[in-house]
Amino acid sequence: MAIHFLNCFTCNARVPSRFQSGALCLLIETGQGLVLVDTGLGQEDYLHRVAMHRIFQAVMIVPMNPEEAAARQVTRLGYRPEDVRHIVLTHMHFDHCGGLPDFPHARVHVHRREYEAFLGRPRRGTDLAYVRRHVAHGPHLELYDDTGESWFDLAAIRLPFEPEMWLVPLPGHTRGHCGVAVKTETGWLFHVGDAAPIGLDDKMPRWLVRLVLGPHEWRLREFQAAHRDVQVTTGHMWLDFFA
Ligand SMILES: [Zn+2]
Repeated sequence: MAIHFLNCFTCNARVPSRFQSGALCLLIETGQGLVLVDTGLGQEDYLHRVAMHRIFQAVMIVPMNPEEAAARQVTRLGYRPEDVRHIVLTHMHFDHCGGLPDFPHARVHVHRREYEAFLGRPRRGTDLAYVRRHVAHGPHLELYDDTGESWFDLAAIRLPFEPEMWLVPLPGHTRGHCGVAVKTETGWLFHVGDAAPIGLDDKMPRWLVRLVLGPHEWRLREFQAAHRDVQVTTGHMWLDFFA
């Protein structure tokens, strides 16, 4: 079993401070074929930019390099895009699900509340990061509801893959935002998506974290301190993580 860490969206912001990051997508070999956790931008996004791409490109200094599209990286790793049988989404912002159309055969696993938020009327600023065309190809969706199960002490939903994987609801950044836990050969990988600041570091003021990323930061820090054998990753990581 291998987990590949893909950077599918580089940002080089210089204000308020130097902020070189990449959006982390996981490509996981499982008994059910390749599972991709989040997709980054899609190939179409590089050709036809929507307002949200242009805003991000200007503010976050995004190089918009089409070689970062997950489908291209999958190919460079020696697989075919069709080998990606499943996609698990932390949430449906454009920088996390823009690549869905590049994998039209994949089943898309997402929390029901997230899909409803994606389809619904925007209720807050971060809802503007949903781009409807990302599901215009009509992907096969597997929608999840809370089940009362848990992973460690966190409410979680078991995903149908081996090795064991869990969807861990962490709503706040978006209404149906989830983390994804993956059993590895040495312990666990817990990808918390955009529920915590980059690399769980504490450079960002707490009020801003709460406003933009939701209420889980503190709990996730405590979780990490209590479970040193669990590798915690975030939806955006410092560029040197990918080196
Ligand atoms: Zn987001």
